[in-house]
Amino acid sequence: MSLREDGRKVAVIAGAGPAGLTTALELLRRSNIAPLVFESDGQVGGISKTVNYRGNRMDLGGHRFFSKSDWVMRWWQDILPVATGAELLSDALRVSYQNRHHEFAPGRAAAQDPEAVMLVRERLSRIFHRRRFFDYPLKLNASTLRNMGLMETLRIGLSYSHARVIHRVPEASLEDFLINRFGERLYRTFFKDYTEKVWGVPCGEISAEWGAQRIKGLSIRKALAHALASPFRSAADTAQKHTETSLIERFLYPKYGPGQMWEEVAKRIEAGGGEVHLRQRVVAVERAGLTVRSVTVRDEADGATRRVPCDYFVSTMPVRDLTAMLEPDDADVASIAALLPYRDFMTAGLLVKRMSTGASRPRAASLAPAERAPLPEGMPPDNWIYIQEPDVKIGRLQIFNNWSPALVADPQTIWLGLEYFCREGDDLWSMQDGTFVEFAARELAKIGLIDRRDVLDGTVVRVPKAYPAYFGEYSRFGRVRTFLDRFTNLYPIGRNGMHRYNNQDHSMLAAQSAVEHILGGGLGKSELWNINADDDYQEEKHSEVA
Ligand SMILES: Cc1cc2nc3c(=O)[nH]c(=O)nc-3n(C[C@H](O)[C@H](O)[C@H](O)COP(=O)(O)OP(=O)(O)OC[C@H]3O[C@@H](n4cnc5c(N)ncnc54)[C@H](O)[C@@H]3O)c2cc1C
Repeated sequence: MSLREDGRKVAVIAGAGPAGLTTALELLRRSNIAPLVFESDGQVGGISKTVNYRGNRMDLGGHRFFSKSDWVMRWWQDILPVATGAELLSDALRVSYQNRHHEFAPGRAAAQDPEAVMLVRERLSRIFHRRRFFDYPLKLNASTLRNMGLMETLRIGLSYSHARVIHRVPEASLEDFLINRFGERLYRTFFKDYTEKVWGVPCGEISAEWGAQRIKGLSIRKALAHALASPFRSAADTAQKHTETSLIERFLYPKYGPGQMWEEVAKRIEAGGGEVHLRQRVVAVERAGLTVRSVTVRDEADGATRRVPCDYFVSTMPVRDLTAMLEPDDADVASIAALLPYRDFMTAGLLVKRMSTGASRPRAASLAPAERAPLPEGMPPDNWIYIQEPDVKIGRLQIFNNWSPALVADPQTIWLGLEYFCREGDDLWSMQDGTFVEFAARELAKIGLIDRRDVLDGTVVRVPKAYPAYFGEYSRFGRVRTFLDRFTNLYPIGRNGMHRYNNQDHSMLAAQSAVEHILGGGLGKSELWNINADDDYQEEKHSEVA
């Protein structure tokens, strides 16, 4: 069947995040199918977008570009090559993963637009606890001992030894899981509050299985071994094949933030004959039996709706919304989907003159000239800092200058992201923007990281359904999946599309599989759900000890 005068089949794609845009570009590259992308937001990128506030760019969460999939790494570099020459931390770069190596010769710079590149970044993130900085992952070194005090370190050691000998059996909850691996004292000091802040649920109510998925393969022993081996690793090599993913030390990062990647992809889709429509929300799905015939799209500006017929429908919108639109006959399926749990996220962008961290950082001669300029006073060297202080609600602090200097309009200022985990509609979420910025600034001042008077400007970004959660009705998600799988031309993919706590690479691999399926590559729909981009490399969740 063809729906267009030019004879091309049509794939409607709901959502212009990494999953939707990868699907569209892959369809264009590999077929004659016309992809029509409808995005409810005013910009592309989904959770991986970059928000530009008065020339300062915010990354919602801090997005490292790293994948254990060669296909994903190549795909990204095809869109935004790795910078060479002045942009690089070292002239000859070798990125290695999964026993394969990729070399980037400095000569490539001449052909590049120096603005449309990815940088190689070195990761640093620490924990702020008791108004002091701790290494992350935790290391048993002099600075930890100093920060903890000898007595507390001994107590932690004893409690760790105790946990090694006497295991909690059965290991039912995340609390059991963490105590068995780290000891009760370390768990209470570094994991409990943070995990509960992120998920809004006591660790005793989260399943141990969840911990096993997230904290796979990482232990105090491995963290120590990693710390000891670090001085012997080559500086020009980002080989990470033997590195637990929570310990990855180098990653790629688009010069202007993650959204730059997806803006470039959207341009290529349009140049290749696809369409990306912004502020257009899919509000209804029309089906005939088990085939999707069309979707209804609402213009978010004027409320006008139109019907868009399709041959294929790829949905990256929340599975909860998609299922409701398909109106399942089985009331149970409808109710499971409606009750799927989520955690929401807010971030306050705060521009400050200086910070009170006592940080002074020598500038390495190998840095690009832009990075050799004097740093704003007190700017810590971290990409992000976990805030483990019980008297404030902030969960993490991003220092955008350290992700890419190009994110910041004035290099003499520090551009921060103060991240809060919350629930849509709760007290934090419902605060007026100005009140929230003030609240966030006061929290940072309270823990001594800034002086309130040094705040120059601020803004707020809310991210609904940032975290699809794995508790409550999720245990019955299989029913929803079976219902969706029966549709012949429907592909639910992506983070909320599959209710998967994933990274960009997983969304992209799911998109690739959907395209394979559409093109008749013989892939069954179960392969789509089985895609594993290696779940242990996840966006940073401190509870993962990580
Ligand atoms: C705090 C945080 C930190 C993260 N850090 C990393 C990291 O370091 N590295 C990494 O790779 N990943 C990271 N991620 C994960 C990454 O953001 C996601 O994996 C990725 O954005 C998922 O892409 P997606 O296209 O599946 O979904 P999304 O990004 O959610 O995009 C879905 C799109 O669909 C649109 N949409 C929804 N409903 C409709 C509708 N009805 N009609 C039209 N459009 C609709 C939405 O507006 C959105 O733009 C992080 C995530 C968070 C929350």
